[in-house]
Amino acid sequence: MENTVDKRRQELEKYFDPKSPFASLRIAQMKRAWALTNRRELNWWENSYLPSVISGIALTSKHFFFNLTFHILHLFGLAKKTKGAVTYQYPESPRPLASRLRTRHRLMKREDGSPRCVACMMCETVCPARCIEITAAEHPDPNIEKYPAEFVLDLGKCVYCGFCVEVCPEDAIRMDTQRLDTAQYSRESMIYNKKRLLED
Ligand code: SF4
Ligand code: SF4
Repeated sequence: MENTVDKRRQELEKYFDPKSPFASLRIAQMKRAWALTNRRELNWWENSYLPSVISGIALTSKHFFFNLTFHILHLFGLAKKTKGAVTYQYPESPRPLASRLRTRHRLMKREDGSPRCVACMMCETVCPARCIEITAAEHPDPNIEKYPAEFVLDLGKCVYCGFCVEVCPEDAIRMDTQRLDTAQYSRESMIYNKKRLLED
């Protein structure tokens, strides 16, 4: 070990000017590096990993019995001020999320149930992941220029940046479903079409 440290010190000193204004900083860095490389050898007891396993089990047990005790006390109306850890029975009872959190997208509807989107393509253009694909069509209502004949959003590519929501001039797309369970068994299932996006 000593030889390795000496060799490293010699190597460093070749490039290191002790008169430089950063000398003390550099020396401190070098000492820290040498201290790290000079860590003591573990003894057989430490090498058996048993101390780490025992301390891990002790810590987990401490939390388990702490929480168990306080949840039982709460059942009897005692020690209400001390909270035990909360476990959510997901997926039956999902964990509450912050209202401002960007979650799975939805398309907003007009009063007649049609999408509020006017197929302006702003979201498709701004999307950094290129995961939105809109097929625009002429709207039968002359007051509305276009509508999305199809609106496809590939959640497998989406980075949840929220740019599509920010840029939309019609407030037609939102990320407020509070749903994050988008995992699927195939990439195709991660692709949401207009019908799916209008469901929430
Ligand atoms: S959240 Fe970002 S990456 Fe996802 S669809 Fe919107 S713009 Fe694209
Ligand atoms: S920006 Fe809004 S209105 Fe424009 S295409 Fe996207 S969702 Fe539709």
